[in-house]
Amino acid sequence: MAVERTLSIIKPDATRRNLTGKIIAKFEDAGLRVIASRRMRLSQADAEAFYGVHRERPFFADLVKFMISGPVVVQVLEGEGAIAKNREVMGATNPANAAPGTIRKEFAESIEANSVHGSDAPETAANEIKFFFRDLDIVS
Ligand code: GDP
Repeated sequence: MAVERTLSIIKPDATRRNLTGKIIAKFEDAGLRVIASRRMRLSQADAEAFYGVHRERPFFADLVKFMISGPVVVQVLEGEGAIAKNREVMGATNPANAAPGTIRKEFAESIEANSVHGSDAPETAANEIKFFFRDLDIVS
């Protein structure tokens, strides 16, 4: 399987509860490597642009408000099949449907405050990585 890169965001519900390290351990235990990382606060414009694909969804305004409610940790993860592997480690969007052992099953508070974001396909991964990181910031 090819080595891929994917974008991860540890969301405000998780930074608020001091879960950053526990979540990164899940990535590393699954064979993913953190090759870029930054803790930051998203502006409203950042969050609206990042989630632009969801602009028409009824939960868009709430999602943006949640994503700017506290610090996030944005990261690039690298590994074999990293995009699908990260999605597997994250678990289903709604924690009620997430498999045992996944990040969302163990840590998510709700379908919205679900602790992590992960790119869903190669093209989105490339675009989402570029949204947050310069090539110089990524060290594999
Ligand atoms: P993901 O790829 O698993 O993160 O899921 P989506 O791309 O479908 O949704 C993006 C994010 O929007 C999710 O991770 C949640 O934080 C939020 N979200 C998704 N569905 C809902 C919903 O029905 N209600 C609310 N309030 N938020 C949602």
